[in-house]
Parts: sequence; C-alpha cells; structure tokens
Amino acid sequence: MDKNLTMDKLVNLCKSRGFVFQGSEIYGGFANTWDFGPVGVELKNNIKKAWWKRFVQEDPQTFGVDAAILMNPRVWEASGHVQSFSDPQLDCKSCKYRFRADNLIEEKFKDVDVEVMTTEEMQNFIEEHKVKCPHCGNFNWTPVRQFKLMFETSRGTVEGEKDVVYLRPETCQGEYVNFLNVQRTMRAKVPFAIAQIGKSFRNEITPGNFLFRTVEFEQMELQKFCHPKDSMDFYNDYKKRAMDFVCDLGLEKENLRFHDHEKLAHYAKAACDIQYNFPIGWQELNGIHHRGDWDLSRHSEFSGKNMEYLDPFTNEKFLPNVIEYSIGADRLTLAIMSEAYEEEKLENGETRVVMHFKPFLAPFKVAVLPLQKNLSEKAKEVYAVLSKEFMCDYDEAGSIGKRYRRQDEIGTPFCVTIDFDTLEDDTVTVRDRDTMAQERLKIDTIVSYFEKKIKF
Ligand SMILES: [Zn+2]
Repeated sequence: MDKNLTMDKLVNLCKSRGFVFQGSEIYGGFANTWDFGPVGVELKNNIKKAWWKRFVQEDPQTFGVDAAILMNPRVWEASGHVQSFSDPQLDCKSCKYRFRADNLIEEKFKDVDVEVMTTEEMQNFIEEHKVKCPHCGNFNWTPVRQFKLMFETSRGTVEGEKDVVYLRPETCQGEYVNFLNVQRTMRAKVPFAIAQIGKSFRNEITPGNFLFRTVEFEQMELQKFCHPKDSMDFYNDYKKRAMDFVCDLGLEKENLRFHDHEKLAHYAKAACDIQYNFPIGWQELNGIHHRGDWDLSRHSEFSGKNMEYLDPFTNEKFLPNVIEYSIGADRLTLAIMSEAYEEEKLENGETRVVMHFKPFLAPFKVAVLPLQKNLSEKAKEVYAVLSKEFMCDYDEAGSIGKRYRRQDEIGTPFCVTIDFDTLEDDTVTVRDRDTMAQERLKIDTIVSYFEKKIKF
C-alpha cells in the first residue's frame, strides 16, 4: 500500500475511472449507498469468483446455495433479531444530527464499558457527564431510544392485510434453514459446510467511510456444521484458511492481523476478526465465529423440525455446532483497491498512478490499443480473438502514453499495441503494467501467454 493513499484519493480515482459512483448521484446521492461502475463490477465479480473457487469449488465438503432475501419472519424471531437487533440512538435537538449513544460515550470516555450498559444507564451517563453534540457543541438531546437495524417492508396486496417482512440483515440464516435440504440432497456427511454470496441490509446511521460500511452490502460466507468435539479444530482451520485467502489475493501480511474477541455473544465459544490496515486505520475485514449449537437449536425449537444429525458410522445423534466464516465483498474490494494503489515516481520525473492488482483480479486483463486510428480494423480482429477468453478493453482515442496511463490506473496487467508491423508479420507489442517492459509476440501465441499469467 502506498503511504500517500488517503480515502479521498481513492474515492476520486474510483469516481473518475469507473470503479464506484455515489448511489443516486444525479439526485445528490443517498447516504451510505454506492454503485459499482463498469470497472468496479469486474473487480468485485473477480473477488467473488476467487472466493467461490477457493471455498466451494476446491472443497468437496462445501455446498453452495443462493437463498431468498425475504424469509419467513419467524426466522428472525428464532435468530433473536426481532427482539434485540437495534442500536441506542439519540438526536441533537439543536442541529438535528443523530448519533449512537454508545459511540458518543466511548469516544470521550475510553475506559467505560458501554456494552454492559442499558439504554437508561447510557441516558443517565450522558446527562451526568454533560456529553455535548460533536457536531454543534450544544447539550440538547432527545432521550436515548433503541433504533431497529432491520429494514422492514410489507407483503400483501389488500390494504390493511399487510404483513411485516424484513430485508435480511445477514445471509447465514439461509444456510441454517437449508441444513436438512442440503444434507439430504447432496448425501452430505457431517462435517460439511454450506456457502453463500448475497446481499444483506442494515439500517445503520454510522458514517460509512466509503465502501467500508454501507446500508446494503454483499457477504461471502460459509457455515461449517461439525461435531462439537471437532469444533475448535475447524475454528482454527478457518482462521488459517481465511488469512491465506486474503494473502493470496495480494494483501500484505504486515497490513493484516488477527483480533480475538474478548466479549462473546452468550452462545459463542470463540470469535475473532481479521483486521486490515485500511487508509482509515485498522478495521475488521472478516470474522470467524464459533457459534456452538445456538442456530440449529433455535431453528429446531421455532420450526418444530428436528435438526439433529445421526452419524451413520457411530449411530450417535447430536446437534451440530457451527463455525461461521464471513467476509464482506464490498469491504474486501476496498481493501484490495487500497493495497493495489501506488503513486510511482518515474525516471523522467513524472508520477504515474498504478493499481497493482493480481492479474486474476484485474477488471480488464488486456487492453487492445491500435497505435493509430487507421489500424483499428486489425486491432478489432485481435480484440475479437482475445475477448472470447478474457475481459478486454479497447481504446483508440488519444496518445499511446495517455492510454497506457489510463490502463495503469484501472490496473490492466497487459496492453497489446497494434502497429504497422502487425500488418506485415502478425506480431504485436505486449506491455507489462508493473515493469512497463515491452515484448514482441506473435498474435497466435498471445492467448496462451496471457492464460498462464492470469490463472488464480
Ligand atoms: Zn448538534
């Protein structure tokens, strides 16, 4: 990661090069929402593909699903979200800004343990210590209220007959409710895992820091169902696999660390994050949680379906434990972009911005660039061959130097330049993004040349 990188620089690059735009931008935006553009969607898709390949395709004990976002509301009673998924919030009556009461206290009083405080205790604390509004400096608060984090919508077409349903705040419930289906149809033996990539929604007011925290976000996660006696081994195994994965995607070891949770949910046996050193500092990148048998026991209770597993070898009947491994696709995309960014000083005194993505993650693998416009017919032939194999960009506008810089900024690992010699001998110039070295290759060899360099 470049030490000159700030979040503002990254946001500007994303906006100007088509990675990420502000959500609903022409209407002045919409807080904590972002739209991936033509370049960003390729990067994010490649990250998701790499995750799926590593954890589903290459693991015979893991099965994928794609569950519905809208679930039977009973699911959220069983999970505990209906009762307790909320933040304590209060509004400043002077400037109308809204804050989380726990954050307000934590920021001023570092050694106060807000997690054990009730709503009332937070309210009293803020009054006793005259905690002022960080925005306008006044002391003029509404009472502290619990603000629900699940987005509600309703189902039903006849007025007055609507039922409340929720946009899911986490994807993992889609795996728990399909535990029996997957086990039966795939003839799966415990231990096995169910994996999913999908969107979740949380009605949070906390400032987002670009893609770091958004009200809708995509999760890549799996739930490993195992015997309680093996559960700590799988927990440690996924800690290692999770760390290996983000390193293999190009994140530097020195920017990654484990953070073990000291305070655990009442049902949890162990929990940790992997943190990444974002431009905003060390923050959670992904989580590995030992959830005990909480999830399956709750769904057994609320659905009335017995979710115990009968081991065919030992005849033992037990409720599997769950090890959860979860990583945010948007947050990981932000980490990958932060790591890849470099402002490189060149020998001629100029500076170029380069995104050093691993080739398999790069939005475009190859850019096809005719040296001059009257070479575009030949260039389009080459593009037609390459685009059957890879995502390619095509650009014939402006000087070749400017076109190289643009490809550097979106992280394209290879540029193929078509010149007048190409018409004579069917060779092209291939330029490497990182070294800027150029070599001359026969057109009929370039597909296999790129394939070798791009593989994950
Ligand atoms: Zn205020």
